[in-house]
Amino acid sequence: MLAAVLKEPRRLEIEHREDPKDIPAGFVRVAVKSVGICGSDVHYYQEGRIGNFVVTQPMVLGHESAGVIDGVGQGVPLKVGQIVALEPGIPCGQCLYCRTGDYNLCPDVKFFATPPINGALQQYVVHPASFTFPADGLIPSEACLAEPLSVGVYAVRRTNLSLGNEILIVGAGPIGLATALAAESQGAHVMLTDINPERLAMARQIGFEANPSQYYQQQFDAVFECTGSQAGLSDAQRLVRSGGVIALIGMGQSAAHLDTLDMIARGIRTIGIFRYANTYPSAIALIRRHRQRLRVFQTNHISLSDLPQFLAQGQFIHHIKTIVNV
Ligand SMILES: [Zn+2]
Ligand SMILES: [Zn+2]
Repeated sequence: MLAAVLKEPRRLEIEHREDPKDIPAGFVRVAVKSVGICGSDVHYYQEGRIGNFVVTQPMVLGHESAGVIDGVGQGVPLKVGQIVALEPGIPCGQCLYCRTGDYNLCPDVKFFATPPINGALQQYVVHPASFTFPADGLIPSEACLAEPLSVGVYAVRRTNLSLGNEILIVGAGPIGLATALAAESQGAHVMLTDINPERLAMARQIGFEANPSQYYQQQFDAVFECTGSQAGLSDAQRLVRSGGVIALIGMGQSAAHLDTLDMIARGIRTIGIFRYANTYPSAIALIRRHRQRLRVFQTNHISLSDLPQFLAQGQFIHHIKTIVNV
């Protein structure tokens, strides 16, 4: 099989690796068909690290993946030929966080394309059936969106939004749009802001309110910060109402500034959103419901063999989402 292997920063090679043969009980072998390129893949490619996660040995990239079941181990309820989305993080199942359902916080999670774990940009992966989700009726390039959508589903769940809440999303990239879809599905009134007019236009194109000048005086029940920038954080704090909540989703610099006195005096709650847990079925349901709108993520498909050049030339900045056909 072919695999997209990051050898060192800025050196990605498509190499031949042996097909995985063994399928243990409780596992499936998936022929990977579509993998979305994420900011983290680009980061590892460019710098070889994200914070404390450092690429020290060759690593297969990619964590937003979907494909077709091609073999099943014993005791697996899935069928060969079924379209599936792969949840990329396999937690230990034993620790406090795993036992209490917050398995996204598991310190021993093995997550695709987070060193030293190989990712999904390869033609086959053997994966636990319990982290493999049927996406019948979708095509793989749609099903792989379950990963970014999961972040939105999880963020919305953590903020306990309810019908009629006014919410603002700072940053109209893939995660911002995913959060917008998830919040809207809970009955919230969603608005988006971004410094990039093209992203605002895309948000409007799929039916969201994205005219920041009209609502910069307003206050919001919840603000979802998806940029990780100081400007985004400051906007979030200025625009959240007293007693409201700021969800911190975007990863930027580790020491950004929030005004703690204001947070105390106005009773503002902040929650950190790291990945997700128990979201895949909801994310897949969201994709089914919003197939047409999610076509904005289907505008740039490339082949596995085109990926090294695509990353080397920095072409990803021109597209809201790039999907690799494996
Ligand atoms: Zn991602
Ligand atoms: Zn654990």
